[in-house]
Amino acid sequence: MPNKTVVHPDEDAAAILEAIKDFAVIRIDLDGLITSWNAGAEKMLGYEASEMIGRPTSMIFTEAGRKSKKAEEEMAMAKKSGSSVDERWHVRKDGTIFWGSGVMTCLFDEAQKPKGFVKIFRDMSEQKRLTETLLRSNKELEQYAHTISHDLQEPLRVLAGYAELLKMRYTGKLDAEADQFIASLAEGAMRAQKMIRALLDFSKLKAPEGKYEEINFESLIKDAIKNLQFLIQERNAHIKFTSLPVLAADPQQMLQLFQNLITNAIKYGNRERPEVFISADETPNEWIFSIQDNGIGIAAENFDKIFDLFARLHEKEYEGSGIGLALCKKIVESYGGRIWVKSELGKGATFYFSIPKT
Ligand code: ADP
Repeated sequence: MPNKTVVHPDEDAAAILEAIKDFAVIRIDLDGLITSWNAGAEKMLGYEASEMIGRPTSMIFTEAGRKSKKAEEEMAMAKKSGSSVDERWHVRKDGTIFWGSGVMTCLFDEAQKPKGFVKIFRDMSEQKRLTETLLRSNKELEQYAHTISHDLQEPLRVLAGYAELLKMRYTGKLDAEADQFIASLAEGAMRAQKMIRALLDFSKLKAPEGKYEEINFESLIKDAIKNLQFLIQERNAHIKFTSLPVLAADPQQMLQLFQNLITNAIKYGNRERPEVFISADETPNEWIFSIQDNGIGIAAENFDKIFDLFARLHEKEYEGSGIGLALCKKIVESYGGRIWVKSELGKGATFYFSIPKT
């Protein structure tokens, strides 16, 4: 049932509309002709009320908007569902354009018959430009990260290769200090190679392009377990899961997300018998997944830090690149979700992430 606005005569209404200076408030009849034009509309569009009353609203649309009959489309949508979102470029009297953002509402009489429209919007050009600039610079930064990590692979390969050669040919032939220098050189080159490879993987991760599939998360976990079979057997890990939902998402990304979290739950899990428990809770707006382990745990001061790129709490004791959780965060946030951890040192950790319902 559309949300229909019924208008009652109100003597103050005209005065209120006049007082609103930062919003254009325009009344339109069923033929699309303007019947009232407030001071905000005068300020925003440059036309006096006397110039606009009786004229079609399409006058404030761009040429492209007029050609594709946007004004008519807006009215039809408002009639059908009560209101219609108005987010588009509009044209001022002097020909300049601005990004108008607001809503067109259909007004109904007591008998629920449409009697006209009111269009309320404001100039959001600055915000629109800012968002576009941010999106552009974010894309550029991702491109830089990708190019740099890609182009650094080759010189690092040479460096690591020759460091290794030095180690093989000259260890024990120079003095002890030289042996130490060469070993550090080889180790540093290898670490840099690993980090650059991880950065390349990170920069390759694309935002989901809406190519979602219905995913049965129980089957997805079974696939993840199959892929991690070697690690699971090696560490004698036990993985359990409760009933999990079917949701639309990118299967590859979801698999990567779960594999990273399960791998960590085993890697940083109990040394004798890592146990991992996966479950999901439904709330009105989202699904919350959790991956619980019985491992070394994390101190509260590191709850945020571990999601940063290259952040590692156990540099020496455990193998890793410090990119897994940063990747998980990037995936979850690209769906509009959140990821967080609850833990106590020595008492295991539970990682949570949410996926909003669409
Ligand atoms: P990596 O495991 O390659 O080091 P991650 O980004 O996956 O990188 O994790 C970052 C850090 O967070 C790890 O180095 C580890 O110190 C900590 N961590 C991740 N998962 C767990 C966990 N389940 N229990 C305890 N610590 C964890």
